[in-house]
Amino acid sequence: MTTNKPHVGVLALQGDVREHLAALESAGARVSAVRRVSELEAVDGLVIPGGESTTMSRLLDVFGLLEPLRARLAGGMPAYGSCAGMILLADKVLDGRPDQHQLGAVDMLVRRNAFGRQVDSFEADLDFAGLAEPLHAVFIRAPWVESVGADVEVLATVPDTPAAGPAAGKIVAVRQKAVLATAFHPEITGDLRVHELFVGMVSAARA
Ligand code: GLN
Repeated sequence: MTTNKPHVGVLALQGDVREHLAALESAGARVSAVRRVSELEAVDGLVIPGGESTTMSRLLDVFGLLEPLRARLAGGMPAYGSCAGMILLADKVLDGRPDQHQLGAVDMLVRRNAFGRQVDSFEADLDFAGLAEPLHAVFIRAPWVESVGADVEVLATVPDTPAAGPAAGKIVAVRQKAVLATAFHPEITGDLRVHELFVGMVSAARA
């Protein structure tokens, strides 16, 4: 019964791992937490959760996962990064720590903590490419995307309204081949559509 489900891991070094595991399971995946290289090798796709990109970067080193993860991404493993995960997947970051690692899986420049430094959060309803109805997006000390390369598809931008302030029009969801990234946190809203999109990408890559 369950054997045809794609196996999706959640990088479990830090951050909101449980929420992603639950959302992925509801979206039709077989799920597991990933902390070791053997666990990384076993999955068909990987979610990098929100949390703190500088901490996760350091823990990738400590757990010996940095180069194995880069190798799997280079080999075409589907990945989805939310917030801190988006920062890690980018190839360039503004306002990062000089020693934080980039996985380089998406050709984009992200600005860390763009929506605000500490407690700032922001919410907006976004038009998201491929989704029929708008998506309610919650941003928590989130990055936004300053620029993307030619191979990157922009999936969502913040509505260009006065209420959005400096975030108006900023890119907040992208896809490059099998890699998806959002600046916001779909795992906390109960709306499964982004996780369903990613599980579908993992299934397509296996086929
Ligand atoms: N500001 C965090 C970082 O730099 C990201 C915040 C989040 O993932 N909610 O990694």
